[in-house]
Amino acid sequence: MAPGRHPILLLLNGDIHTMEPGQPRVSALAIDRGSGRILAAGDDSDVRALAGPLTETLDLRGRVALPGFIDAHTHLLGYAQGRLEVELRETRSEDEAVALVKARAATLPSGTWIIGHSWDKNQWTPERFPSKASLDAVAPAHPVALASHDYHSYWVNSEALRRAGIDAATPDPGSGRIERDGAGEATGMLYEMDAMGLMEAVIVEPDDETLLAELRRVNAELRARGVTGVHNIEGARSLRLMQRLRAAGEIGPRALLYIPRQSLPDALRLGLEADFGDDFLRLAGVKIFMDGALGSQTAAMLDPYEGAAGKTGLLTTGEEEIERAVREAAQGGVGMAIHAIGDRAVKTALDGIEAGWRAGTLHARRIRLEHVQLARLDDLQRMARLGVVASVQPFHAVVDRYTAERYWGDRHRRAYAYNTMRELGVRLALGSDTPVDTCDPLRILHAAINRYDDRTPDAPPWLPDQMLTLQQALHASTVGAAYAGGQEAQQGTLAPGKLADLVVLGEDPFAVPQQRIAGAEVAATLIGGELVHGALE
Ligand SMILES: [Zn+2]
Repeated sequence: MAPGRHPILLLLNGDIHTMEPGQPRVSALAIDRGSGRILAAGDDSDVRALAGPLTETLDLRGRVALPGFIDAHTHLLGYAQGRLEVELRETRSEDEAVALVKARAATLPSGTWIIGHSWDKNQWTPERFPSKASLDAVAPAHPVALASHDYHSYWVNSEALRRAGIDAATPDPGSGRIERDGAGEATGMLYEMDAMGLMEAVIVEPDDETLLAELRRVNAELRARGVTGVHNIEGARSLRLMQRLRAAGEIGPRALLYIPRQSLPDALRLGLEADFGDDFLRLAGVKIFMDGALGSQTAAMLDPYEGAAGKTGLLTTGEEEIERAVREAAQGGVGMAIHAIGDRAVKTALDGIEAGWRAGTLHARRIRLEHVQLARLDDLQRMARLGVVASVQPFHAVVDRYTAERYWGDRHRRAYAYNTMRELGVRLALGSDTPVDTCDPLRILHAAINRYDDRTPDAPPWLPDQMLTLQQALHASTVGAAYAGGQEAQQGTLAPGKLADLVVLGEDPFAVPQQRIAGAEVAATLIGGELVHGALE
């Protein structure tokens, strides 16, 4: 069809924050429904001039519209799966968690797997890692596997250990650890991927149809929260199910995919490169782990954890390995997302990236460090210099604050230093890391600008120097996230030629007290110019 003959949607009378420096506020957008892209942004009269016979007009009634939120770090299949499991997030002791397992066991035939997640021993009294004994007492005939809050350890029972073939003679696999008692017997705690993998090899997962139905509900939840794009970090099953949803006409959020590093050789053999896919489902790069996590004290530290003589966590990938991965990813034309939580993990990752860069192999694809929870100042400066994006999760900061103070001591003052990163010129992208924490972008913005968990309004702001302004946090949730994925030409701002992904809020977030941001209403969400949540007018 010739220009002007496509159906056009005009959004008029809005308070539209475009995130474009040259034209930050407009009242109207024209959207080409054929391509799902923005045709024009301006005042009502400019945009009205584009009206034709196929034009539909919607009145925003003065409401605020923003580019749709892009969540730069998700595990959506994990989230869907988690919603089918025993939820242990709110438990405050091992006994409370065991009671929930007991209740689930009563509903399932013997021999059926009981899977659970999100227990956090740092929230428990007494605070200690649990053991198989308490699970054996309530579910001796069901295999039980319960992932910790940070997904860096499993708590399992004797039946699960038996099915995985783990006994006193099993060596610690790779960089993982099987916890043992004085007699060398496994206690029921498995730490890090290599050890957790022994369990994952035998766990019987829900079938595809069950998961697809739950993934649809997850996508609907994200659209209702104003999320129009995600950077999803998962493996083959996730990619396969997302393709099935895409083929069935699912309309977002748009997913940019980061696959495990181990899959890179296969992807390259097939000739896949970043950008393979379409605007709804696209390959971006590979994910690599440098270390564990703070909650399990497995994040790799330059100096030992407080009160844990000599314990510095686990570095799961070395500098040479990262350098090699940078080279491979560059040759293969894919981006990299490198999980690095502790200051040693951040330093080692940057050493490897810098070595790759010096060797002249670093090319235009984005490299990003995920989490960056503790870093030395000179490493943050290095991130800015090397153009490495900080993909961070403000909700982790407000949940982890007490754990960080306890295990990092004085070092915690340098932790989750988002404003320092910004001032140094590090590009920021905000995300949720769902299912680890909430995927609600307004609660994440609240955490970024207020530095406390909206569920505990009496808590003082944590490290208030590191607060972002609303504008800065919004920028990192839209422009910054688009940049992290190498998609800044397509997404992140509302400008002619870009995808018409936007969110309309029920109240002006710039006008309400900033402590109320978490409760703001999402009135409508549009993806590619289609209304996918709520109503306009
Ligand atoms: Zn994650």
